[in-house]
Amino acid sequence: MSTLFGAYGGRYVPETLIPALDELTAAWSSLREDEGFRAELHDLLTNYAGRPTPLLRAERFAPDQRVYLKREDLLHTGAHKINNALGQAVIARRLGKQRIVAETGAGQHGVATATVCARFGLECIVYMGSEDMRRQAPNVERMRLLGAEVRPVEFGTRTLKEATSEAIRDWIANVDDTYYLIGSCVGPAPYPELVRELQRVIGREARAQVLAIEGRMPDAVLACVGGGSNAIGMFYDFIPDEDVRLIGVEAAGAASLGCGRGGVLHGARSSLLADEDGQIMDAHSISAGLDYPGVGPEHAYLRDTGRAQYVPCTDDEAVAAFHRLCRTEGIVPALESSHALARALDTDAELILVCLSGRGDKDLAEVLAR
Ligand SMILES: *Cc1c(COP(=O)(O)O)cnc(C)c1O
Repeated sequence: MSTLFGAYGGRYVPETLIPALDELTAAWSSLREDEGFRAELHDLLTNYAGRPTPLLRAERFAPDQRVYLKREDLLHTGAHKINNALGQAVIARRLGKQRIVAETGAGQHGVATATVCARFGLECIVYMGSEDMRRQAPNVERMRLLGAEVRPVEFGTRTLKEATSEAIRDWIANVDDTYYLIGSCVGPAPYPELVRELQRVIGREARAQVLAIEGRMPDAVLACVGGGSNAIGMFYDFIPDEDVRLIGVEAAGAASLGCGRGGVLHGARSSLLADEDGQIMDAHSISAGLDYPGVGPEHAYLRDTGRAQYVPCTDDEAVAAFHRLCRTEGIVPALESSHALARALDTDAELILVCLSGRGDKDLAEVLAR
């Protein structure tokens, strides 16, 4: 397994973490071929998470095009994050790790991690910025109900960037018995590739579904990009289909690909929001799940090679698409996913797939406050 995607990726971590990353790399390369592991994960994805998810034509939302929604919002805990959390929890158990640490921003990855830890009886510690804890109080309560310990992070902007740094710090200090369950396709190798492989099920299903329904490949595939895990999962199996346009949609105030520069954050080299001295700048988005100054290294590679393009979407455009999906389809989308929905409507293509990465119940207060 290479640690690089072109010039991006790698392992910018202290020496003490290298053995753990090597152990995870070795475990993953044998488990991915292991019948027992695959059967266990398949059973969990089917009976616990609710896969496969449907592919739904959004006829009233997009009357002039054929737009299909990949319904990750219907999964247990309400978003694609459960695909990754389940996979990594099964790996952690096979590695004999009883203690799980994770970071969370909006709380969605924290909830998915607390959920799988409850299911498997694992100790769960979630780091969360105190500002995010205030903004996302229901998710904090949910994690606690599920038996997780939520540790507030009180420095910097008190949001996801600092929570991630703190989770990595805990992992460094406790690496012998602790598994770091990262929430997106970011971090040091092998995490970006591991998370991509665990989310690939989204695009694998969607590709077979659109072929069965329409008898052809889509013209374009869209997904929102925070760290980039639902997007890479949706895109990956379409990469060899060269006529299929892959379009990642970033929050305009957190466009690490559209406005970023090369740099290192949280263990990998990627495209970041940073100033000329390499200092990380704050990201801003109405949707907490996209509010991150970095992005997975594989997206930076897909951008540079031209295989995928990345476009921005403003808060207002996302909110308009949110309302439109509610009114035209009876589906309340996550604000994150609403970014991809907004750009689908102005994509000049006939047959379009959009990853509806999550449901929007968590976002009602934010939308209603506008
Ligand atoms: C966390 C989240 C995202 C952003 O994360 P990615 O790793 O970019 O997928 C997008 N949509 C929803 C619903 C989320 O919860």
